[in-house]
Order: sequence, then structure tokens, then C-alpha cells
Amino acid sequence: MDKILYMVVPCYNEEQVLEETTRRLSEKYDALMKADKISPKSRIIYVNDGSKDNTWKIIEDIHKNNKMFRGICLSRNRGHQNAVLCGLMYAKEDADMVICMDADLQDDIDAIDEMVDRYHEGFDIVYGVRNSRKTDTFFKRFTAQAYYKLLLFMGVDIVYNHADFRLMSKRVLNEMENYKEVNLFLRGIVPMIGFPSTNVYYERHERFAGESKYPLKKMLHFAFDGITSLSVKPIRLITTLGSVIFLFSIVMLLYSIIVHLTGRSMIGWSSIMVSVWALGGLQILAIGVIGEYIGKIYMETKSRPRFIVQEYLKDED
Ligand code: UDP
Ligand code: MG
Repeated sequence: MDKILYMVVPCYNEEQVLEETTRRLSEKYDALMKADKISPKSRIIYVNDGSKDNTWKIIEDIHKNNKMFRGICLSRNRGHQNAVLCGLMYAKEDADMVICMDADLQDDIDAIDEMVDRYHEGFDIVYGVRNSRKTDTFFKRFTAQAYYKLLLFMGVDIVYNHADFRLMSKRVLNEMENYKEVNLFLRGIVPMIGFPSTNVYYERHERFAGESKYPLKKMLHFAFDGITSLSVKPIRLITTLGSVIFLFSIVMLLYSIIVHLTGRSMIGWSSIMVSVWALGGLQILAIGVIGEYIGKIYMETKSRPRFIVQEYLKDED
């Protein structure tokens, strides 16, 4: 089989898991090559996203021992999405299909076989979808589900329970290159590209070692990015809210005139206080949401590079 499969694995402070990931991936690659499902020219790219530990040194060693593994070192930490994008853009030059996967072995390596099979059947995008959230805490499960629902409500087309474990064909990646946004939310962009797609179901494991690099603060940030990068509905909702409140204020005006004319104008202090606070709060909220979009526009107009590569370790082929 002459179809070349590349894998892109973003790594941020992953020294504890890289050896094991490498062992399992190289086993998987050997098996796939033996079964003639992928070309012997297939490679795996580790993208070091500005790690502060020994991650890059380990990647260099892995590359030295086994040329199947390549390494890209970013000039600094740019976040998971940008690291993945960088890997994808480099991989697509040499590959027919690319799978991106986290380094921590939470994604099931055995799902790769099925993804490759689907590719051979003619699918351009194969989403890895978790079939349960057993390994998550109740909090994560609940917030994740609420978030997916919210995105759908905002009109953002995403695949339910799919994170960033997916296969994409070369032509999908060539199109992805044209999505120039700096505020990157890959799982929202991929469905927009189109082409035949399908799902592969897998069980998501616990992290093999180390800690999640997505603390609550980063997660909230990412979640908010997902909405504001892909949907303008929040602005519309606020416009609607503003109109409703304005209409209501006219009703209130009429009401107070009637109260005044009937001579019962003993207007309470509390109702004024409540409305001052409520309206003040709403206004600040509205300005905040609009400001968020203006901030995004500001960043987009700069069109700064989304990643900067410091070093690319590749075999001469
Ligand atoms: N990651 C990255 N840059 C970052 C944060 C994370 O490249 O700034 C990588 C990390 O090494 C891992 C993947 O993104 O391979 C997912 O991160 P993690 O497993 O910590 O997130 P979680 O699975 O807990 O959501
Ligand atoms: Mg993880």
C-alpha cells in the first residue's frame, strides 16, 4: 500500500509519557505496515509546544534511535490547538492522511486501524468519538455536555463527544490552510470544511502519567474561544435582550404615569435600586461581550503567525 500516514502529537511537558507513547505507536505502525495498510514512508511527528521539562531532549533521542519519529520544536508555548495546526501543516506536505492525537495515551491507539480502514473506504475525515465518559469526573462530564449543547444552540456545528483525535486527508488539510484565523478552534473548523466524513468510536482512557495541561482556567478560556470564534449569536442575543428591556421600559413608563395620575405615586426606593443594578449589570455584560469580539477582530487584523518553528528534525527521505 502506498498511502502515507502521518501522526501529529502535540507535547507540552510530557516527559513522563513520551517513552510509552513512542513504544505503543511504533508497535502500531509496524503492525499497520506489515498488514500493508500504510506505506513504509509513514511517520510520526511530535510537536514540542515550548515544554519546560525534558520533553524536547527526549524527542531528540527518540528521533536519533528511530527515524520513523520526527520532531518539531516550537519557539515557545502556543497552546494545544496551535501546536496541532503546526504539525498538521508540516505533515500534509508528505502525507496522504494525517491523524492527530494527544500524547498522554487517553485516545485509543487501537482506533487508528479503523480510521485508516475508513480512509481507504473513501472518507476524508474520520472523527474519533468517545463512547462513554466513564473516566471523567462528574464535574467534567457535566460541564462538557452542557458546553456541547450550548455550542449547538449557538449554531456551531461540532461532533458530539469528539475532541481532537481524528484522521484527515491531504485535501482536507489543504483546505484547512485557507482558514487563517488566529483564534483557533479546530474541532469547529473541520466540520465546516466538508468532504465525506464518518465516526469511529473508542473508549477514552485515563491519562497514562503526568497531569492535565488544561486546568479549569484554560478550559474556560478555550470554551469561550470556541463560541466567540465560531458564532455571532451572543451579540444577537444581547441585541434581542436590549430590545426586550427597552420595550419593557416603555411599559414601565406608562405604568408610572398612570400611578402618578391616580395620585398613588409612592414609588419605592427598592425598585429603583433593583433596576439600577440590573440595568448596570446588563450594560456591562453587553459591553463585555462586544468587547470580546472586538478583541478577536483586533487579534485577527494583526494576522500574526500562529506558530513559529525553531527546529524540525526529519530524516532525509
Ligand atoms: N498540550 C500542548 N500545549 C499546551 C497544553 C497541552 O501541546 O499548552 C498538549 C498536551 O501535551 C497533550 C494535549 O495537548 O498532548 C492535550 O492536553 P491534556 O492531556 O493536558 O488535556 P486534557 O486531556 O486533560 O483535556
Ligand atoms: Mg489528556
